Amino acid sequence: MNALTGMKNAVVGPPLWLLAEVTYRCPLHCVFCYNPVDYARHEDELSTEDWLRTLREARALGAVQCGFSGGEPLLRDDLELLVAEAHRLGYYTNLLTSGVGLTEARCAALKAAGLDHIQLSFQDSSREVNDFLSRTKTLALKQRVGEMLRAQGWPMVMNVVMHRLNIDHIDRIIAMAHELGAEYLELANSQYYSWALENRGHLMPSTEQLKRAEAVTDEWRRKLDGQMKLFFVAPDYHEARPKKCMNGWGNVFLTITPDGTALPCHTARMLPGLSFPNVRSQDVKSIWYDSEGFNAYRGTGWMKEPCASCEKKEEDLGGCRCQAYMLAQDAAAADPVCAKSPSHGVVQAAVAAANAGEVPARPLVFRGRAESLARSGGG
Ligand code: SF4
Ligand code: SF4
Repeated sequence: MNALTGMKNAVVGPPLWLLAEVTYRCPLHCVFCYNPVDYARHEDELSTEDWLRTLREARALGAVQCGFSGGEPLLRDDLELLVAEAHRLGYYTNLLTSGVGLTEARCAALKAAGLDHIQLSFQDSSREVNDFLSRTKTLALKQRVGEMLRAQGWPMVMNVVMHRLNIDHIDRIIAMAHELGAEYLELANSQYYSWALENRGHLMPSTEQLKRAEAVTDEWRRKLDGQMKLFFVAPDYHEARPKKCMNGWGNVFLTITPDGTALPCHTARMLPGLSFPNVRSQDVKSIWYDSEGFNAYRGTGWMKEPCASCEKKEEDLGGCRCQAYMLAQDAAAADPVCAKSPSHGVVQAAVAAANAGEVPARPLVFRGRAESLARSGGG
């Protein structure tokens, strides 16, 4: 891929969102985890100084939102320091957490550091399924954390990844969020990347399950009449049109991985033939504007048919490059979710299998270090 090919037609503004993946370490083992399956190859973490410099450089470039995620970001002892600096620089700060490791003392310290917003993830409303999906006993702990967040005056923002193993509990999940006083609940259907792709046959809901879940969500929206904002994020496999992935490659989001690699999205490192720079050796400005990796799929100049002549190309920018690579083995192809893609049959076959209730013979794979090392090619 020639970087200049991708840049053709692209007007490049600054990154608005900095996603700081401060660690891949996590006490949970979610079957849908979005961290790369070979994360164990990239465990070397940036120092506090490297992160502070990265925060400053991205803010100087124009980033206004800073999300701290992981892995479990609370496993970094310097999280409060990073949040305080981000706050001082004028970012709107957000922490995405499983809640494991959040004590009252750390809550108070994060509040004092100026943290604006915490998003707490749950796996399910029932102890059995929550604990099974994450291979930890964490439901009661998460509920306690929810109370701590409210005591600190943060809005209660919850996130639950939806899939075949929990989607029929959606009514109880929404009820639990309501009981915990959630102001926002994101019911985000699993996207099939990383560990979720490995487990796709187990996780993909049927079309009927999805319709029921959307109807239940609508019913709660009416019942709650605006008391809680409910976001139901539909899975793209069940649509005929792809999403405008990351709102466009190198357009809004700048992801920095634990080892300092800068990516246009958290899974882009899987794409072959592209090199992505590292904040240890390059400043954020030149990474964003000049690097090969960030320019490769900006705009529409890189497209081939059917996208190149499609009237929708500015709307969805051809969908997701990682999905194109994973399902069509070509990162410059149309996202196979699109009905016009020559590889759309792969997506249709996966949905048909889910609709037929087929479950793979292979057991679920839980995210874990040993499993990741086994997928790291000995590297
Ligand atoms: S999805 Fe689960 S295992 Fe992966 S980082 Fe988040 S909490 Fe940890
Ligand atoms: S052909 Fe390409 S641009 Fe057109 S709708 Fe499909 S993915 Fe989008």
